[in-house]
Amino acid sequence: MARNGLGVWCGLSLVCSCGVAASVAVGSQDVPAALTPFDAPEGTVKVHGCFGDEHGHLEGGIHFIEQDPLVLELVEALERAQGAAHDNRVDIVFVGDGYTAGEMAQFHADVDRVLDTFFFYEPFKSYEPYFRITRVEVVSNESGVDNDPSQGIDRDTALDMGYWCSGIERLLCVNVSKAYTAAFMGGVDVDQVIAIANSSKYGGAGYPSNNLGTVAGSNAFAADIGIHEFGHSFGDLADEYTYGGPQTYNGPELSPADVSIFDRSEQISMETKWWRWMDASMSGFDGPTSTYEGGNYSEFGVYRPSNNSMMRNLGRPFNLPSAEEILKKLYGGEVDPIDDGTPNGTELMEGDTAWVLPMQPLDHDLTVIWYLDDVIVPALIGETSVDIAMLGAMPGSELKVEVIDATPWVRNPDTRANRLTETRVFTIGGCVRDPDLTGDGELDFFDVSAFLQALANEDPIADFSGDGLYDFFDVSAFLQAMASGECVPA
Ligand SMILES: [Zn+2]
Repeated sequence: MARNGLGVWCGLSLVCSCGVAASVAVGSQDVPAALTPFDAPEGTVKVHGCFGDEHGHLEGGIHFIEQDPLVLELVEALERAQGAAHDNRVDIVFVGDGYTAGEMAQFHADVDRVLDTFFFYEPFKSYEPYFRITRVEVVSNESGVDNDPSQGIDRDTALDMGYWCSGIERLLCVNVSKAYTAAFMGGVDVDQVIAIANSSKYGGAGYPSNNLGTVAGSNAFAADIGIHEFGHSFGDLADEYTYGGPQTYNGPELSPADVSIFDRSEQISMETKWWRWMDASMSGFDGPTSTYEGGNYSEFGVYRPSNNSMMRNLGRPFNLPSAEEILKKLYGGEVDPIDDGTPNGTELMEGDTAWVLPMQPLDHDLTVIWYLDDVIVPALIGETSVDIAMLGAMPGSELKVEVIDATPWVRNPDTRANRLTETRVFTIGGCVRDPDLTGDGELDFFDVSAFLQALANEDPIADFSGDGLYDFFDVSAFLQAMASGECVPA
């Protein structure tokens, strides 16, 4: 089905299963150390695989699977080769595996189902225009993926997807190099890759360090797993369920925004983690917000912000601290509040128009504030364009515009100021002191007469030397301007 507001791209066909093998040259030396996931044993990559039981309760967690370190270098090389165009959107690229040439309609139907689920949940629902969805049609020789429905079934597919990854039935893995190579063939910016398997078997996986997730295309729960995994890979969020780890966590404070070793009163007194959100409830999110014991695979010693969020159970909303973190990531990397407009630093003349095109969430407008010499111009609040002539600004003045996402889903003032706000500054050009005092376009006796009159009256328009005094130096500067026939610029 057609989706409005999304730049849906499709049409590229890869005709053979080997056609997506890496075609970009990859050097074999100098793998940058910073690209290696620090928390995974050498030669492996951290993969999230969280799966629900029949009640949707999630379990599973972190797995380490073998991965060639050159994969990361390949992804970097692909980004360089593409030029990494910044399009002010989060680009999610869908690549399919196990879809034969005759099954492309199925591929698109499966992507549609995943997207419907994805944009059902806040904050993605309201921020849907911040995402650009691309689909790359990848043709496999055989239909379906490996180990589906049971172990030992091997299929010839383009991206080598398969269940029973690392011996775990529901862990659905993909050849990351092939998935990325296919994604970049879409010809667009690639921020997140979702590899979708032609399968109805329950499963999925998230590769946080690869910005990649896998999802089963036609399983009712799979799309929900997909958005849970996106919480891991995009929001760096932790699992909020309580099994799989030590019963009591005794380690240091955890880095994800949605788990903490500090309880409510400790968070408030230390002003840490989600202390600003205590008791908050908002439509579209799990709440009320407090500290609920249990999370990050342990029953005790760890707290989560709400009782039962998306990071704990399938089919649940995110909680508010998680949403704030997702918005922080959304604005911090791929999207700026001003989508287009007069470039920062432009000198504007009378007759020019300064303008901005703010990003447009579905549920609210961004706030637009204009300042003239650092003073808010009340009449221009919310305006997206300003006629400089109407502004009545003196040459040399500074015009500034601030575009702010004032969403109540962010409470950290630093996040608001540094990520949800974009500022552009312009200078007003033109003449500070124009010898054509009569304004008739002619420089003649009448201008001299008007100048002398203004000088005698100590009128600021006669202060041609700009020193606040009315003396010989003004006469000298005025005569010089007369002689050159030009005004004195700002
Ligand atoms: Zn998880």
